[in-house]
Amino acid sequence: MSNAKENSVSRLPVMSSKRVLTASNSLENHDCQPAQKKMRKEPEPTKPKAAATIIGNRRPPVATTRAPAAKSVRVAGAATVAAGPSRGVLKQATASTVPKGGAVPKAGGGGGTRRHAWDLKGKVSDMEGKIANYQGKLKSASLENEQLKGSMAQKQLRAAEMEQELQRLRAQLSDYEKNQQTLLAVQDELEKTISDKNTIQRDLANLKAKFTVMETLRESQEVELQTLKMKLSVQESTVARLQTSLRDSEEQVRSLMETVAQQKDDIHAGEMERRQLHNTIQELKGNIRVFCRVRPLVDGGLSEHIQLSTNDNKMLALAKTEESHVGRAGDTQKSYNFSFDRVFGPKASQQEVFDEISLLVQSALDGYNVCCFAYGQTGSGKTFTMEGDDTEETMGVIPRAVQQMFKTAKRLEEQGWQFTFTASFVEIYNETLRDLLYTGKANKRPEHEIRKLANNDVTVTNLTYQKVCSEDQVLNLIALAKQNRSTAQTNLNDRSSRSHSVFQLAIEGGNAGRDINCKSTLCLVDLAGSERMLKSQSQGERFKEMTAINSSLSNLGIVITALANKENYIPYRNSKLTYLLQGCLGGNSKTLMFVNISPEPDSFGETLNSLRFASKVNDCVIGTATANRK
Ligand code: ADP
Ligand code: MG
Repeated sequence: MSNAKENSVSRLPVMSSKRVLTASNSLENHDCQPAQKKMRKEPEPTKPKAAATIIGNRRPPVATTRAPAAKSVRVAGAATVAAGPSRGVLKQATASTVPKGGAVPKAGGGGGTRRHAWDLKGKVSDMEGKIANYQGKLKSASLENEQLKGSMAQKQLRAAEMEQELQRLRAQLSDYEKNQQTLLAVQDELEKTISDKNTIQRDLANLKAKFTVMETLRESQEVELQTLKMKLSVQESTVARLQTSLRDSEEQVRSLMETVAQQKDDIHAGEMERRQLHNTIQELKGNIRVFCRVRPLVDGGLSEHIQLSTNDNKMLALAKTEESHVGRAGDTQKSYNFSFDRVFGPKASQQEVFDEISLLVQSALDGYNVCCFAYGQTGSGKTFTMEGDDTEETMGVIPRAVQQMFKTAKRLEEQGWQFTFTASFVEIYNETLRDLLYTGKANKRPEHEIRKLANNDVTVTNLTYQKVCSEDQVLNLIALAKQNRSTAQTNLNDRSSRSHSVFQLAIEGGNAGRDINCKSTLCLVDLAGSERMLKSQSQGERFKEMTAINSSLSNLGIVITALANKENYIPYRNSKLTYLLQGCLGGNSKTLMFVNISPEPDSFGETLNSLRFASKVNDCVIGTATANRK
C-alpha cells in the first residue's frame, strides 16, 4: 500500500513535467489522463483501495517502458526544476540512461536524446522504438481500460449489492427503530408499572397497618358484642315480662277507659242536672230580682233616714219626720218600707254584691239570657256598681262577670264544651245609639239602627261586635268604652249620667261530642240618672234629654210589667233601650235590677222614687225561663 502511494506520488510530477516540457506528446497526455481523472474523481472511501489495485496492475509495464523516457526527463529536469519531488528518483534515472546508444544529451532539457541529422537509421529505430513503446503503452492502456471496465462492472455490481445491502440495512434499521420505539414504549410501560407497583406496595403497607388496627377493633367489638348479647338476653326476658304486664295494663286501661266514658256520661248527666237545678233555684229566687244598694255617705257617717233591717238583708225603711203645723210635739214620723231580694248596706263590698250575681252569670253560660240593670239617681253608685274602679277590690260587676265567664268556660272545656264570646258596648243618648267600641275618626261615626232578624235575634247596624277570648281583652274594651264616653262629655255636661250604656256579651257554646249547642246574651246596663227635674229648670237640650230619659225608664217599667202580666202586646219598640234588650227581657230570661240609692237627706225624694220604681218591677213575676237550647 505504501509502495503504491509512493509510486503515484512520484509519478504525478513526472507526468505534469512532461505535459509542460513536451507539448507535442499528446499521447502521453491521453494516456495518463483517464487514470489521473479516475483517481481524483473517486470520492467514495472504497476508491483508494481500487486505485491501489489498478496502479499495482499497471506498474510492471510502466516501469519497464517508461524507464528510458524517465531518464531523459530526469536529466533535463534536474537542471531546470528547482524543487523536484524526490532525489532518489533522479539518481535512478541518471544511472539507467547513460549507457544507451550514441545519442547526445540535449542541453536545454525536454524529450529524449537527439540524433545527428544524418543518423536516419537511428532516428527510424528511435521512432520504431517509440512506436513500439507507444503500442505497448496503448496495449497496456487498453488492457488497463478493460480491467478498469471489468472492475467498474464489478464495482457497479458491488455498488448495486451495496445499495441492496444498504436498503436491507435501512429496512433493518427502520425495523430496529420501530423495535426501539416499541421497546421505549415498553420501557415507559415498565417504568409506570414499577411506579404503580411501588404505589400499590405503599397502599398495601397502609392497608396492612389499617387491617391490624381493624383487627384489634374487631376483637374489642367482639368482646363488646358478647357483652351486648348478654345484656340483650337479659333485656329480652325483661321485655317479655313487660309485655305481659303491658297486656295487663292495657286490659286495665280498657276497663278504665270504659269507666271514664261512663263517668263522663255521668258528669254530663250531672252537668245537665246541675243546670236544671240551678235554673230551678234561680226561678224560685225569681226570674226578675231587685237588689237595693245604699251608697256610703261621702264623709263615712250614717244616714238617719235610711234604716236597714238588722235580722235579714232584705228589708229597708225610709223614714221621714213630717213637721206638724201645731208644733214640734205634733211631728209625725213617716216610714216607707220596702222589701227586695237583697239589700246591700253602705259597707257591702263589690265582691259581696257580685256573689249574688255570679249565679246569674252561670245561668248565662247555661244558655239563659241575663239582663242586669243599675237604676238610680245620678251619684247613687250605678257606675261604681257596674264598672267599679280599677283595683281588684273595687272592680265592678262587668269585669267580675267576664272573669267568671272565662274561668267557667275553661272548666267546661274539659267536658267537651267550646265557647265563643262576642262583646259590644252601646250608649243610648236621646234615643240615639252610639258605638262605644268605635275606633275610627270622630267625624266619620256611622249611624246605627236596631234590626230584628228572622230568628228573633236583635242586631245593631254598623256596630262593633268584637270577638273576645280573654279577660284582658274585655278589660281593654271597657277602657275603650270609658274613653269614648268621656270624649263626648264636658265638665258642664255630664253626659254619662244622661245616657244608658249597654254592655252585651253574646255567648255561643257547643258540645260537639254530645251534639248540644246553646246561645245566650249577658247584658249589663248602666242606666241614665233617674232624677226628675223641675220643669222650670229644664229647658232646651236638658228638657229633651230629660224627656228621653224619663220616657225610656218608664217604658222599661212598662215592658217589665207587661211581661209580668203576660200581656199579648209588649211595647218594646217604645224606646231604644227596650227594643235593643227585647231578646234579653221577658219569658226567656233572667233579669236583675240594682236600685242604687244615695244616703244624703236631700236625696230623700229621689230615693223614694227609685225605691218605688224598683218595687214595681220586683212585684212582677216573669214566666219560667227556658234555656235557648237547640
Ligand atoms: P252614678 O254612676 O250613679 O252617677 P257613681 O257610680 O259615679 O254614681 O258614684 C258616685 C261617687 O260615689 C263615685 O265617686 C263613686 O266612687 C262613689 N261610690 C258610689 N258607690 C260607692 C260605694 N258602694 N262605695 C264607695 N264609693 C262609692
Ligand atoms: Mg254613672
